[in-house]
Amino acid sequence: MRLRNVKGSREVMQSSEYVFADPKSMAGTWKDIFGNNNPIHIEIGMGKGMFITTLAMQNPNINYVGIEKYSSVLIRAVEKQNELALPNLKFIRMDAEGICDIFGKGEVDKIYLNFSDPWPKDRHAKRRLTSKEFFARYDKLLKADGEVHFKTDNRDLFDFSVEEVTNAGWKLKAVTYDLHNSDMNEGNIMTEYETKFSAEGKPINKLIANR
Ligand code: SAM
Repeated sequence: MRLRNVKGSREVMQSSEYVFADPKSMAGTWKDIFGNNNPIHIEIGMGKGMFITTLAMQNPNINYVGIEKYSSVLIRAVEKQNELALPNLKFIRMDAEGICDIFGKGEVDKIYLNFSDPWPKDRHAKRRLTSKEFFARYDKLLKADGEVHFKTDNRDLFDFSVEEVTNAGWKLKAVTYDLHNSDMNEGNIMTEYETKFSAEGKPINKLIANR
């Protein structure tokens, strides 16, 4: 993801009712924020937000929260949502390392991880969003029957993730090494990176993990 400084992006964040730009503790507050008891699905590392915005339009009875570290990327999703004004879509600008301050125990029903940064050096493995350290965080905030859905073109990251699911004490509910030619593709929503990589002929890997 290109980290250009987009002029005014911080100001747009501060003035939008759809984004929490400097979140502190928010655990247990989501029913009040959305004003209902609908399930909560989150995407971590949502980039420009095409995936989560499409899901929010298709599923008005599910609440969606997109998490992204950088304003310069998130701004695209915020600008779009300022126009669409979907009542079931919010964003948070933050590093997901602090996610347990944002959602309480069992407050989340599903987690999406799409084309997460690979952090190729071994010494950075803990930063991968599919590391066992991140699964320990997901264990706290996901409901007992909740799921993690992960897609990537990066085979090394995918192989690491498949192993890490087991290392974390989770189960692999489903795995494919060629999503677009598998029955797991039904209802698939493409992300920005997925569109780019599949146009280049790269197969897309997907796993679903649960406990
Ligand atoms: N999910 C989008 C897609 O598939 O098109 C974007 C993929 S991009 C390669 C990864 C995104 O995750 C970047 O926008 C990056 O800033 C964000 N990201 C990486 N680590 C993160 C973290 N720890 N917390 C929040 N966002 C993160």
